[in-house]
Amino acid sequence: MAGLLLVVSGPSGAGKSTVLKAVMEKRGDMFFSVSATTRPPRPGETDGCEYYFISPAEFAKMQEEGLLLETGEFAGNWYGTPRAPVMERLSRGETVVLDIESAGAAQVRERCPEAVTVFLTPSSEDEAERRLRSRGTEAEEVIQRRLLASRKEYMEIDQYQYIIINDSLEEAVLTLDAVILAEMARAERNPRLFSRYRNLRQIW
Ligand code: ADP
Ligand code: 5GP
Repeated sequence: MAGLLLVVSGPSGAGKSTVLKAVMEKRGDMFFSVSATTRPPRPGETDGCEYYFISPAEFAKMQEEGLLLETGEFAGNWYGTPRAPVMERLSRGETVVLDIESAGAAQVRERCPEAVTVFLTPSSEDEAERRLRSRGTEAEEVIQRRLLASRKEYMEIDQYQYIIINDSLEEAVLTLDAVILAEMARAERNPRLFSRYRNLRQIW
C-alpha cells in the first residue's frame, strides 16, 4: 500500500512548524521531509535537522540532476524537496509530510495527484504577522519580504483540499490529526481489505 503524502502550506508565522511538530510527536509514525534551502540557518537550526543548508550553486546542481521533487522561491531564497527519501518512505507505506510553499505544492499536485493538501493559517493575516514578529528570528527587512510572499500564499488558498485555522494550537493539532486519520481510512488506501472481501458477495 502506498503511503500518505501530506502537503502543508500557509503564510509565514502561521504556525506550520509548531503544529507539525506537535502532530508528529503525537502520532510518532510520520516522516518529515527535510528540504534543501539557500536560506541561512536561524539561531538554533541545525543542518540536516530543519533543513539542508546549501549554496545557490549546490541547489542549482541538485535541480539539474533531477534530485528535487519540487522547488519554490520564498522571500528571496530557494527551497526544494529531495525526491529519493520521500519516494522511498511512500513506497514503504509511510506517511510523509512536506512543509512547502504554494508553487511547490502545485508541482506536487501535478506529479503526485493523490497527495493530500492542507492550508494552515490563523484566522487573520495580522495574527500571522504578529507571530512572525514575536518569533524574533528575522530582521525587519526580511519580515517585510516574508509578508509580501505570504500575500501570494493566501491567493492560492482555494487550491487546497483542507483549510485548518490555527488560532487554538490544541484545536489545530486535533484537526490535522483528524484529517490524517480520515485520509488513512479512505477505501482506496486499503486495497488488501478490498481484495480479501471482494468475492464474499458470491460466496454468501
Ligand atoms: P511557520 O512555520 O508557519 O512560519 P511557526 O511554527 O514558526 O510558523 O510559528 C510562528 C510563531 O507563532 C512561533 O513563535 C510559534 O510559537 C507561534 N505559534 C504557533 N502556533 C500558535 C498558536 N496557535 N497560538 C499562538 N502562537 C502560535
Ligand atoms: P522558512 O524559511 O520559514 O522555514 O520557510 C519559508 C517558506 O518556504 C515556507 O512557506 C515553507 O513552507 C517553504 N518551504 C520550506 N521547504 C520547502 C521546499 O522544500 N519547497 C518549497 N517549495 N517550499 C518550501
